[in-house]
Amino acid sequence: MSDDCLFCKIVNREIPSEFLYEDEDYVVFRDINPAAPVHLLLVPKRHIRSINDLESGHESLVGGLFPLAADMAKKEGVNESGYKLLFNVEKGGGQEIFHLHLHLIGGWRKK
Ligand SMILES: [Zn+2]
Repeated sequence: MSDDCLFCKIVNREIPSEFLYEDEDYVVFRDINPAAPVHLLLVPKRHIRSINDLESGHESLVGGLFPLAADMAKKEGVNESGYKLLFNVEKGGGQEIFHLHLHLIGGWRKK
């Protein structure tokens, strides 16, 4: 938990947001500035700044994002048409919120 972190506030429901998915480790919600028809953010509840800040013990938390992404892609109906998974790392990599998250982007040409 970081006091001034937007995603921690969303995770803790201090800022209202519609979760498409939630369990004890993750939440999923839509990007407020979508880059595509489907643009989800998959967010570990635990505050980790970026991929640069991964430590021993974070493997399963980060690894769990990928099967979750596959499930969410299916729910959004883009699993067959295809999608991108993207981590932006720090400012130069386009990261805007410094709480680790995986972008799921797709839906341009759904069949
Ligand atoms: Zn945070």
